[in-house]
Amino acid sequence: MSRPAKALIDLNALRHNVTLANQLAPQSRTMAIIKANAYGHGAVAVARAIEDLVPAFGVACTEEALELRESGIVKPICLLEGAFSRDEIDVAARHDFWVSVVNREQLEAVLASRPASALKIWLCVDSGMHRLGIRPEELVATYGALNACDHVASGIVVATHFACADELDNDFTRQQLARFNAGMAGLSGEGNIALSLANSAALLGWPECRADWNRPGIMLYGSSPFQEPNTLADQLQPVMTLKSSVIALREVPPGETVGYGARWSARQPSRIATVAMGYGDGYPVHAPDGTPVLIKGQRCPMVGRVSMDMITVDVTSLQDVAVGDEVVLWGSGLPVNEVARRAATISYELLTRMPRRVPRVYL
Ligand code: PLP
Repeated sequence: MSRPAKALIDLNALRHNVTLANQLAPQSRTMAIIKANAYGHGAVAVARAIEDLVPAFGVACTEEALELRESGIVKPICLLEGAFSRDEIDVAARHDFWVSVVNREQLEAVLASRPASALKIWLCVDSGMHRLGIRPEELVATYGALNACDHVASGIVVATHFACADELDNDFTRQQLARFNAGMAGLSGEGNIALSLANSAALLGWPECRADWNRPGIMLYGSSPFQEPNTLADQLQPVMTLKSSVIALREVPPGETVGYGARWSARQPSRIATVAMGYGDGYPVHAPDGTPVLIKGQRCPMVGRVSMDMITVDVTSLQDVAVGDEVVLWGSGLPVNEVARRAATISYELLTRMPRRVPRVYL
C-alpha cells in the first residue's frame, strides 16, 4: 500500500486564478511565473494547463526553461534570475528564451555574444530592492547600448520588482515607482517601451503598477500575497490541497506526553490520531501545538512535535474518527497562509519545498 500523503492539484482553480489575473488588467499581458517547479505544483503540468490563457512564462533559470521546452511548451519563456553564462545566451536564442539583463556583466556578455538569432531582452532596473537590476541613472546608457546592438531584437522590455507591494499601507512601493519613472523619463524620446512592474501583490493591490506585462506568481496558485483580508485576493481559489490519512489512534491519559521531546502533554483523557504527514513531506517542522488540520471538515489541533513522516492530532472533540479517515493539511478549507503563519514562514516556502515523494495528483 502506498503512503496516503498526496498533493491534489486543482487545474480548474489554477485556470480561475489566471483568468482573474487577466481580467484585473485587460490592457496588460500576463507572464505566468512558474519557477521553482511552478511553486511546487509541477511546472510542466501547470504550463500545459494554462498555455492557452497566457502569452509567456517566467522561470528562474535555463534548466527550468529547458524542462518546459523539452516537454513541448512553445510559448516564450523569460529567464528572470538573470544569472546566465555566455554559453547560455546561445541556448536562449535557440529556444526563444527571453534573457534578463540585470547588471553590467550581463550587459557585456550580451553585447559580446554571437547568437544564432536575435536575443529578446528584459532590462531590469533596481528601483530600491537592491537585489538585481541596473541603477535608474544607468538606464539610458544601458538601453541605448542594447538597442544599438545588431543581435538584440527590437522591443526591449524594461522591468522592475517591488520589495513591499504586499503591504498596502507602505509607501515604499510609491517611492520605487517614482525612482523607476525618473529613470524612464530619460527614455521618453525612444517611443513606446513596454514595461513590467507588477508581481501578484502589485497586480492585486497597486493598480498604478499594472503595465504592459504583469508577472503574477503566488496568486495563480490561490494564495493571497497579503496578510490582511483583501476583496480581490479573497476571490482566489487554492490550487494545492495537501492531504493524508489517519494511520493510528490511541487514548492518552492526563499527564502523558506525545512525540519527540515530550513537548505536548495531555491535560485530560485525550484521543490522539497519528497522521501520515511529516517534515519529509514538506509539512513545517516548526508548526506549533494548535496548528489546525481538517478531519471530516472540522478543525483539529496538531499537537506534539512534527516528525519526519508523522504528525499527531488531538481528535478528542471529534465523534467517530477512524483509521483511514482523510486529513487536510492545507488547501481547500484551510488556507496555506494560515499554516505558514503559524509556523512562522510564508506560503511560498511551504509550496515550493514540497518534496518529490509527495505525489501530485492532477484534477
Ligand atoms: N517577478 C519576479 C522578478 C520575481 O522574482 C517573482 C517571484 O519571486 C515574481 C515576479 C512573482 O512574485 P509573486 O509570486 O509574489 O507574484
